[in-house]
Amino acid sequence: KNQKVQQYVDEVYSNIVERNPNEPEFHQAASLIFKSLTPLLEKHPVYMEKGILEQLSEPERMITFRVPWVDDQGKVRVNRGFRVQFNSAIGPYKGGLRFHPSVNQSIIKFLGLEQIIKNSLTGQPIGGGKGGADFDPKGKSDNEIMRFCQSFMTELSKHIGPNTDIPAGDIGVGAREIGYLFGQYKKMRSEYEAGVLTGKGLEYGGSLARKEATGYGVIYFMKEALKDRGLALYGSTLVISGSGNVSIYAMEKAKELGARVVACSDSSGYIVDENGIDLDTIKEIKEVNRGRISDYIETHPHASFYEGCEGIWSVPCDAALPCATQNELDEQAAHLLIKNGVKAVAEGANMPCTSEAIDAFIENNVLFAPAKAANAGGVAVSALEMAQNSMRLNWSFQEVDEKLQKIMKDIYKNCAEAAEEFGAPGNLEIGSNIAGFKKVANAMVAQGV
Ligand code: GLU
Repeated sequence: KNQKVQQYVDEVYSNIVERNPNEPEFHQAASLIFKSLTPLLEKHPVYMEKGILEQLSEPERMITFRVPWVDDQGKVRVNRGFRVQFNSAIGPYKGGLRFHPSVNQSIIKFLGLEQIIKNSLTGQPIGGGKGGADFDPKGKSDNEIMRFCQSFMTELSKHIGPNTDIPAGDIGVGAREIGYLFGQYKKMRSEYEAGVLTGKGLEYGGSLARKEATGYGVIYFMKEALKDRGLALYGSTLVISGSGNVSIYAMEKAKELGARVVACSDSSGYIVDENGIDLDTIKEIKEVNRGRISDYIETHPHASFYEGCEGIWSVPCDAALPCATQNELDEQAAHLLIKNGVKAVAEGANMPCTSEAIDAFIENNVLFAPAKAANAGGVAVSALEMAQNSMRLNWSFQEVDEKLQKIMKDIYKNCAEAAEEFGAPGNLEIGSNIAGFKKVANAMVAQGV
């Protein structure tokens, strides 16, 4: 029986590789998810009989479109826009938009596939989607950003809606971009549909604590997981890569709970401050000035800046939180962290650890918190933002934060229990994939082919 299931999963996976050439990130995400499901399929062959894996391998819809815009010099520029509407079994498509030059079909599909499992884990009624463009916001003027967002939304508005598909932010898309996108959507539809986007400004339908949710959620999740292992966040030393929305609010909550964050980074390099990173300065540099992390040294001469962001994993710590981007932490970095005594790794970014790095952590008994569980707080509060928009009312910061804490606790519990039940105690990678998949798969079985 074991072998038959194994063979089946291998076959599904090789079909994915064959049918989607040149999409290494998509293969990587699919391999992680589908290969975790073997013990579940052994106990519940119904998912095999109903072809759930085959169906889940293929997005329900993949939209690719031209995004033409005019730069400040009057030159016409063209980018490529994407939206993958991956799975709507448990709710309308939900997932962020990423604006980054590395964006392509593979990146969007890996993010979309992970989003299905993540959104299911939140316990909220949201399906999986993702989108973006290969547009580089770096060095663009505010007007260029606005024109790009307007052109992007002119096309995207034909495919989304508060009951169909609800985008939000991701790398390169924050409150400013969501504002421009929402303004254009409103013009295209002549209707005030606040629930079509999340991560909105507080003045026009945004939710309190949405900005903080992903970062805070990572820390809430890690706190639960550490507690279960008899470890504490309080008094620990952390390295948190990145300095965007996820990283900044992970640092904020970690500090509040008594941890010391000694290093963070951006794409140009990383800083180390043994006194603990001064978060007000980071916020000033990144949220206000949109500057470089090296600027930190000007006001904190005792700290050090190192070029190249990969080196950050050589900084000794109790816990490492990759919160920058995919595949930023490889096998070599994992072994370096293990050698330096790391006890826990929690993914704030999506798929920041390579598969080899994950294996190294699990083999060496390092607590590993996978992104689809650990960073689900962002999209969970996005669903709470949708709920508030539907009810036309706003919850207080405390109300949303309390709901977020409960959601992160429940996610941890579900993942840990699934891992235990299916023969991989402590393995949250397997636990998260099984727990997230199950709800989606049951809904798909119920709804038929
Ligand atoms: N981009 C975030 C994620 O990776 C948030 C998506 C959302 O809020 O829809 O989960």
